[in-house]
Amino acid sequence: MNDIQTSKTLFNAGDLIMEQGTIGDCAYIIESGEVEIFIDHPDGTEQKIATRGEGTIIGEMALIDQKRRTASVRALKICSLIKITETEFQQRLSTSDSIVEMITKVILNRYRDTISRIEVFGEGKTFPPAEEAERQLTQSGKAVEHLKTANEFKHAIKNKELELYYQPIIDLETKNIKGFEALMRWNHPEKGFMPPNLFIPIAEDSGLILEATDWAIEEACNALSRMKAAVDHLHNSAFMSVNFTAIDMLHPDFLSKLKAISQKTNVIPSNIKIEMTERLLMNNPEKVKAMLNACRDEGFHIAIDDFGTGYSSLSYLHHYPISSIKIDRSFVVQMTRDKSALNLVKGIINLAKSLDMSLIAEGVEEDHEEALLLKSNCEMAQGYKYSRPLPEPQLIEFLKTYQN
Ligand code: C2E
Ligand code: CA
Ligand code: CA
Repeated sequence: MNDIQTSKTLFNAGDLIMEQGTIGDCAYIIESGEVEIFIDHPDGTEQKIATRGEGTIIGEMALIDQKRRTASVRALKICSLIKITETEFQQRLSTSDSIVEMITKVILNRYRDTISRIEVFGEGKTFPPAEEAERQLTQSGKAVEHLKTANEFKHAIKNKELELYYQPIIDLETKNIKGFEALMRWNHPEKGFMPPNLFIPIAEDSGLILEATDWAIEEACNALSRMKAAVDHLHNSAFMSVNFTAIDMLHPDFLSKLKAISQKTNVIPSNIKIEMTERLLMNNPEKVKAMLNACRDEGFHIAIDDFGTGYSSLSYLHHYPISSIKIDRSFVVQMTRDKSALNLVKGIINLAKSLDMSLIAEGVEEDHEEALLLKSNCEMAQGYKYSRPLPEPQLIEFLKTYQN
């Protein structure tokens, strides 16, 4: 995110910087100089309430709500001020965590309420109902729903509400099953089936993803062994792909936990594929590189998920020990309609091949998508055309009758 754009403003001694009662649209950081803050009383008198100097901030309440200034500010010396506009701050707040946004607004609401209570103290007047404003603040954003879901997710693992579905990944040429991707499902006791795009980001924000991922790798590895035991034609080299978030992968125990699960479940590291997004590489290049090298040294395979959606350059790929690239479904769809998208996919495939990486096309639904991918030398595919993600028992049935 860009830094808040700032502009410097100079005020001379005696200049009024902010006026009580006007709608504020900015705050200032005092870079140098000194100001006084005062309240204008109805009888025309001024009451000084504070002075502020270098390094402090004035007018910050206007950044959070669009109410009137509660005091005036005047320069006592020449002041150089750095402006933060309300528009810039609001943009930041609205794209920040919904809980941060809610709490920030509630704190300001409480503060304003306290000021109005002090003002009317002893005068027998009524004051604005802070409680109602607070209720509106907590109900208007996504924070409460988010917190509730995070709280419920805590119990989901313990209560066995999480389940893994598996989607086969096939060899485009031979149609043999090469492996599976484990995809998490949450059977919520009241809301029913919850899609991962809804609960994974919440599990990430709350840190609960760590526990869920630990459960998922172990369960997926055990399922792979069970599937190999149940289905004769499933090759010993069939792999299990598991999705990992940045929180999982940047955790100091990531590799040691992965190794321990591989040993415990008797699934060799080369049959475990770590799926991660390119965004994680771009945001933490050096840290991730060291960690991926360590994973590769232990024999684990690494796949870049949703490739092409992260605005990254292909050129960085050779810096990392990546074994597969997963071409995002959006490219698979576009390439059948648009020649330049097809050329892009061909470019990705050729580059990946030259770097000795395998390719998996995601979300293949149609025969003509498959045909184009085959013609472009893509090796593997996954999608509804072959199978939707299935729970283990259904997948075993599917595999038993599967014909290439
Ligand atoms: P993803 O890793 O890109 O997973 C592929 C998604 O595409 C899955 O959605 C899958 O059901 C869907 N898909 C597969 N074939 C087709 C097709 O032919 N057409 C269409 N339209 N879709 C297809 P799903 O299961 O809803 O998962 C969504 C995302 O949630 C995943 O995207 C992944 O980012 C995340 N996710 C799922 N399970 C886990 C997990 O265990 N851990 C983590 N960290 N993330 C997970
Ligand atoms: Ca994936
Ligand atoms: Ca994907």
